Amino acid sequence: MAHILCFVEVRESQVRKASLEAVSVARGLATANGWSVEAAVLGPAGADQLDKVKAAGADTIHHAADAALALYSPDLYAAALLGLIQASKPEAVLLGHTAMGRDLSAYLAGKLKTAVAGDAVKVEFAGGFKVVRPMYAGKALATVSVNAGFLPLITLRPNIFPVGSTAGKGEVKPLALPSLAPKTLCAGLEKPESAEIDVAEADVIVSGGRAMKGPENFAILKELAAELGAAVGASRAAVDSGWIGHPHQVGQTGKTVSPNLYIACGISGAIQHLAGMSSSKIIVAINKDKEAPIFQAADYGVLGDLFQIVPQVTRALKDLKKEG
Ligand SMILES: Cc1cc2nc3c(=O)[nH]c(=O)nc-3n(C[C@H](O)[C@H](O)[C@H](O)COP(=O)(O)OP(=O)(O)OC[C@H]3O[C@@H](n4cnc5c(N)ncnc54)[C@H](O)[C@@H]3O)c2cc1C
Repeated sequence: MAHILCFVEVRESQVRKASLEAVSVARGLATANGWSVEAAVLGPAGADQLDKVKAAGADTIHHAADAALALYSPDLYAAALLGLIQASKPEAVLLGHTAMGRDLSAYLAGKLKTAVAGDAVKVEFAGGFKVVRPMYAGKALATVSVNAGFLPLITLRPNIFPVGSTAGKGEVKPLALPSLAPKTLCAGLEKPESAEIDVAEADVIVSGGRAMKGPENFAILKELAAELGAAVGASRAAVDSGWIGHPHQVGQTGKTVSPNLYIACGISGAIQHLAGMSSSKIIVAINKDKEAPIFQAADYGVLGDLFQIVPQVTRALKDLKKEG
């Protein structure tokens, strides 16, 4: 049966939200066009995780539970997916626009001699696939059409598409891993500081820039983030100064984020920073320079010293919680 195939990323036995979003997009397209949704889950994951894939819309779940897939290997992952793609010829392959999704889609495109329509914020099908993607730090939207005869590999920007509630049939089929000696293997995974929310998956982000002046001052952002259940982000200036780790960097050479709320504290709004956060639903900028470009991108601007404003906001939130 005609179908869309989704790659489902697993991290530490948990399926990633970005992949569930991809399955939900596939569900919408499949329902509109009489297709089914197939998902390839690579890596060890329990029945509760496969249930999430079903709930997001998958009719068939190909699960390769091999322990060798617990950490990402481009060779092994591509081999597992290439077998499925070549055997079943999907209408399109959807992946999350995560670090892994970007790497794997490029690898697969090379092997399949096709191209990637990347970082999609809208996907349509009317005889052919059309993908809308932001360009120039979100200042323009490009519509990319995929020419007939080429398998569309589409990566979806995380946090743009909701995880839907139209479940699929969820039939689980084991997926055998082809025997091959991978050229490279990931030897280990270095975790960021414990219990931190990943900016790429956060609903709310409190970000700090060069104005933070030093690592110790990130404490005030962490305190606000704790009140909001938010992740802490940073500009490259703060990361390059060694005040906070690179996993927190938002922007062209950091992560692309699309939270519901992005609070930029002492960040000027350079185009490379905007490239990573301009698709946030609500942007709040705190800056003491009224000419700072971040105010052009912001929905709400607070003109003033972040060292006064941020603690005030945190206190107000604490008071609200006490009252409520
Ligand atoms: C190839 C390339 C890739 C890049 N990739 C990235 C990227 O991924 N992410 C990224 O962020 N940057 C990136 N950059 C760097 C980017 O160009 C900027 O240099 C960087 O974003 C600036 O960081 P900033 O806004 O924290 O610092 P600044 O530009 O120095 O801005 C600091 C801001 O803080 C305000 N301020 C100062 N004190 C206070 C205070 N007490 N209270 C309130 N406001 C205050 C100032 O008015 C100013 O607007 C890249 C650059 C290049 C060339």
